[in-house]
Amino acid sequence: MKTELFLVVVALVCAAANPLSKAAQRNKLLLISFDGFRWDYDQDVDTPHLDQLLEDGVKAKYMTPPMLTMTSPSHITTVTGRWVEDHEVVHNMMFNAKTNQKVPHKQTLTRSEWWDNGVLPLWITAQNQGLKTASFYYPGGGANYSGQVVDRVIVEEPGHPDDNETEWRQNINTVMRWFSEEDFHLVTLYYGEPDNVGHAKGPDHPDRKSIIRQIDRTIGYLREAIGRHHLNNSLNVIITSDHGMTTVKKRPQVDEIILNKYLNLLKLASFEILDYGGFGILTPRPGKEQEVFNALSNAPNLTVYKKDELPESFHLARSERLPPIVVVADLGFNLNSRFIVYVNKGDHGYHSGEMDMKTIFRAFGPDFKKNFLSEPFDSVHVYPLMCKVLQIDPAPHNGSLAVTEKLLLPGGESGDATGGESGDATGGESGGVTGGESGDATGGESGDATGL
Ligand SMILES: [Zn+2]
Repeated sequence: MKTELFLVVVALVCAAANPLSKAAQRNKLLLISFDGFRWDYDQDVDTPHLDQLLEDGVKAKYMTPPMLTMTSPSHITTVTGRWVEDHEVVHNMMFNAKTNQKVPHKQTLTRSEWWDNGVLPLWITAQNQGLKTASFYYPGGGANYSGQVVDRVIVEEPGHPDDNETEWRQNINTVMRWFSEEDFHLVTLYYGEPDNVGHAKGPDHPDRKSIIRQIDRTIGYLREAIGRHHLNNSLNVIITSDHGMTTVKKRPQVDEIILNKYLNLLKLASFEILDYGGFGILTPRPGKEQEVFNALSNAPNLTVYKKDELPESFHLARSERLPPIVVVADLGFNLNSRFIVYVNKGDHGYHSGEMDMKTIFRAFGPDFKKNFLSEPFDSVHVYPLMCKVLQIDPAPHNGSLAVTEKLLLPGGESGDATGGESGDATGGESGGVTGGESGDATGGESGDATGL
């Protein structure tokens, strides 16, 4: 007994002494998201800087976004490690099915009531443990969470051009100064491309290749800037995205979907978000749920679900915000409501198991392995990895550090910092769901697309 007590005391003393050395050794983290960067966009374009990243760091063959392959839901999954049903950011548009209110994505960016649903994102959890964090254009960064704000926030204004290469470099310079002169520990930086070009021109258009070259030059510039600011030995960088992109199928290649052919929307539904790519939601009028479900079950090229019967692998069924009916179109089909008014040539929002919805993951810096090609994983596992790199205790999450820890150099100063805590947080929070689920999703997801 006495020996054990002694060991406990020694452990406590060591733990008390440890934070100082930990803080001194803690490296910084920059998370960059290039919206809509499909996993294979670099394979038909010359991308010397992206290629160099593999030599100097780690690359996942691809990364699987959460179900609901849309910008806001997916970005928040990355910074919370929570499935969409838990963080409840269930669409790019903020909506209220009772009042019929609908707010477009860019106008939601400072509306905390849309983003803050009791789950704390990485910025806030890090700040609560003494770190300084910032968000530059990252979706969700402009909201308050349980009354707390991110230390420094720049929110993208509606209508702001997304493709200005000069501004891209200025934004990198700003972020580098935050790290080197103001000692920020975590910055999330968002770019709106290649999503815009993918929507407007389609993923196969030469302009998409051109914007990938621009992104590649920007990554080259980033690496120069890191050196200029003497951050090579202290800054880790993760480069990722929120979803892929697929070509929209149109007449005469296919018969486009018009939902009003199968049910009288006005008569049967009191709320709808349709005409928004391949993901649709409906609130049936009272007593009409079965009728709506049956009517849409007969429609081709889509799958209709009652919310509470959504496959568990979607991690959407427990959402309180989602209306009772969810419609997922087959890859490339748009869910037109009454007329075909759709102008996009590319889109996302389809099943996350579709290869066209997969996205990228790259990382480099002092804590990451070099020349390491990882098997694919779900984006929900990036959160515990980021907590490990920042040496903070994660909030409860659905990810598993075991999936992404192998990207990091073994041992190292951060080796023991979060081992126990993150294990507990993951297991305790959602052990059952996470354990079996993420394994299936990662391993067999391309096969899982049968949900469509
Ligand atoms: Zn997006």
